[in-house]
Amino acid sequence: VSFQDLNLSRPLLRAVSALGYTHPTPIQAACIPLALAGRDICGSAMTGSGKTAAFALPILERLLYRPRQVAATYVLILAPTRELAAQIHSMVQKLAQFTDIDAALIVGGLSLTAQAAALRAGPCIVVATPGRVIDHVRNSQGFGLEDLSVLVLDEADRLLEMGFKEELREILRMAPKQRQTLLFSATFNDDVAGLVALSLKQPVRLAA
Ligand code: AMP
Repeated sequence: VSFQDLNLSRPLLRAVSALGYTHPTPIQAACIPLALAGRDICGSAMTGSGKTAAFALPILERLLYRPRQVAATYVLILAPTRELAAQIHSMVQKLAQFTDIDAALIVGGLSLTAQAAALRAGPCIVVATPGRVIDHVRNSQGFGLEDLSVLVLDEADRLLEMGFKEELREILRMAPKQRQTLLFSATFNDDVAGLVALSLKQPVRLAA
């Protein structure tokens, strides 16, 4: 398959070719149509497989058709470390460069005040580490998870190893039940299986 075969709009196809991608990777070819169809996905994928674009492209495609009346956060992408969150944020910005979709990076080590201001503006996409996003949900006026329509749990095994289980449970409690959830993990143990059971609805399982 080609990216053109995957039903992505022109601004996203332009971004993909600006990045020099000629063909989708296997995880992209498998994930993009299912995610566009609104399915929950449980993906077994390592870094290097192209999984970031595999979840980011269908998310961006669906956001192109979002309501524009109010700025709201529709997508929350959670990653285990600041570095990984920053990489995902940078990739999302590159893929969104020919659209009006904005993404905020919410991680420890950056100013809480500046981040609170960024969140009040209602960025479409928030890329975050779990601890920092909960700080903001609790303490920043005007930011909540009530408009979330897509939740991504990237590197779920590492999210759990880093001790974010309680934070993840709290986020899952606050997020609307009616949402799409995409979970990726390099490894699957009982803890990850528990998170899959708690967060995904009739997921499609993909391996790359
Ligand atoms: P990831 O697995 O998301 O961390 O991506 C690993 C690397 O592959 C990144 O440097 C991406 O820019 C690159 N990449 C992602 N998708 C493609 C593609 N379809 N063709 C070539 N490179 C890609």
